[in-house]
Amino acid sequence: MIADSYFCVTGAADERYSLCIGNHMSKFRHHSAFPKAKHVQAFRFPHVCFSCRKSFKFPARAATRVCPQCKGPMVRLSRKFSAPKSSDIDQWQKVHYLVENGFLFYPIQEMIAPNASIRAEYPRTLSEAKLFIEKFRS
Ligand SMILES: [Zn+2]
Repeated sequence: MIADSYFCVTGAADERYSLCIGNHMSKFRHHSAFPKAKHVQAFRFPHVCFSCRKSFKFPARAATRVCPQCKGPMVRLSRKFSAPKSSDIDQWQKVHYLVENGFLFYPIQEMIAPNASIRAEYPRTLSEAKLFIEKFRS
């Protein structure tokens, strides 16, 4: 049994909890007052389907996820990825080309001096992507 004082908000310092001060709700707190433990929190990653040209967010999983729309396999990309509009065929071609070549939108460090690197920008167009891949393929 957890002591009441654990649940009760006695001070009115935070007005978000002012509801809790009333007697009938004295044992309730807003769910945000109970943050999830780190291991319970599942980061959701973009999973892309190149047939549908769509991106869906799901927690990472070892097995390949299938597209909710066409049931084809999806590719998991970095959380940095933001999907183009499905009508933007050129952008999707670029994304597909990068992914085929193993670039999953994780940050890439570019050495600019023997002891200095910067984060490389991902290419904006398909032709930039070709140069980008030549440069960073390891
Ligand atoms: Zn699909």
